[in-house]
Amino acid sequence: MRITIVGAGYVGLVSGACFADFGHQVTCVDNDASKISALQRGKIPIFEPDLDRLVQNNVKNGRLDFSTDLAGPVREADAVFIAVGTPSRRGDGHADLSYVYAASREIAAAVDGFTVVITKSTVPVGTGDEVERLIHETNPSADVAVASNPEFLREGAAIRDFKFPDRIVVGTDDERARKVISEIYRPLYLNKAPVIFTSRRTAELTKYAANAFLATKITFINEIADLAEKVGADVQEIARGIGLDNRIGSKFLHAGPGFGGSCFPKDTRALIKTAQDHDAPMRIVEAVLAVNENRKRAMARKVASVFGGTLRGKTVSILGLTFKPNTDDMRESPSIPLITALQDLGAKIRAYDPEGMEQSKTELSEICYCDGPYSCADGADALVIVTEWEQFRALDLDRLKRAMACPVMIDLRNIYQPHDVIAHGFRYESVGRNTQTGGV
Ligand code: NAD
Repeated sequence: MRITIVGAGYVGLVSGACFADFGHQVTCVDNDASKISALQRGKIPIFEPDLDRLVQNNVKNGRLDFSTDLAGPVREADAVFIAVGTPSRRGDGHADLSYVYAASREIAAAVDGFTVVITKSTVPVGTGDEVERLIHETNPSADVAVASNPEFLREGAAIRDFKFPDRIVVGTDDERARKVISEIYRPLYLNKAPVIFTSRRTAELTKYAANAFLATKITFINEIADLAEKVGADVQEIARGIGLDNRIGSKFLHAGPGFGGSCFPKDTRALIKTAQDHDAPMRIVEAVLAVNENRKRAMARKVASVFGGTLRGKTVSILGLTFKPNTDDMRESPSIPLITALQDLGAKIRAYDPEGMEQSKTELSEICYCDGPYSCADGADALVIVTEWEQFRALDLDRLKRAMACPVMIDLRNIYQPHDVIAHGFRYESVGRNTQTGGV
């Protein structure tokens, strides 16, 4: 199959490289010339484990290339995937579909022969209808079928998720589109990945339902954590106690500083808007979003409470800036509102992240960036673990203590055992665990 992917970001580039690895002929198109020129020079513009190797292999074998020209690769393609961004629209929180619509018009002008146009971007229910309308408005003779194939990969584990998905959801009523998409994913049949064929609207809404449900699960355990802290219970044991119930499942039950990232915040906002527009308000998701928003600044107050509520004159070291480990993505990371709230409370910030510091510089100011966890802890009054990168899980606590002015650790990811840290002479706070009783 000849596949063109429009948008070579986290989703487009991973999808393109994986499709090429399945044996298809893939061109990834992006209108960001610097991104394409980097890719053409063999440089991967994002951090995603193993992506560099996968891209290099497929480029070398002639199955993957990159272009700023959309028309040529679309003309040749059997299938065109739209993988452009759908950020929150400024002002009202609806998904901003301007990139999807712009790409659709360009695709319409270029298609030649029967072509399946597939939205992989996360788009509100009904977007496929509008994409189809725009294509026929731009090019009335275009022979296209518009399908939906939402992407469920997670940054940091994107290649594995793409190659071993829990399921593939395909929304189309068009038999020809069904055949083409089945052929594209055929290599995954060996992995027995279930393919669920639905209507286009159902596929579109399935993606939002999935993200809203996961965001709800996280927010639920975060609220249980707050209660556990107050009553002397341990949220990690509770998570295990409920997670082993198959009806609940153990994933997404890790208490922490609140969800962030490039998907959950914007997708829950967009779902709430869509639901309101259709007079079917989603009260649970509305509460999830509101609770999550408040949580990030609440985490800053948690840090300040160690020092009587103010951080004036204090230095706080932050370990981890990205919204999760193994990515450089800083979009809507909880570290951003957390750090600005710490600064508002008077703290000076030192920070270290293995991959996120470059992107962080565009989001945050007045931060002293450090080159490792120990230099970050240098002279600090408190150390806050915000992202659970592997390399933060087994720090030398004696060395850390020697580096700090005041041995205070606030572990917002619960990656340490309270008694271990306390035994090294730290004051230790975590999320939803009573460090005074359960921990020591
Ligand atoms: P991204 O911002 O990393 O990439 C989007 C790319 O599209 C950019 O490189 C941009 O330059 C390019 N682009 C925009 N308009 C274009 C046009 N007209 N022609 C060519 N290129 C164009 O975004 P992303 O994180 O890859 O997300 C893409 C979509 O996938 C979003 O809808 C997102 O919600 C969804 N999604 C993302 C993830 C994730 O983990 N990032 C997971 C599942 C689904």
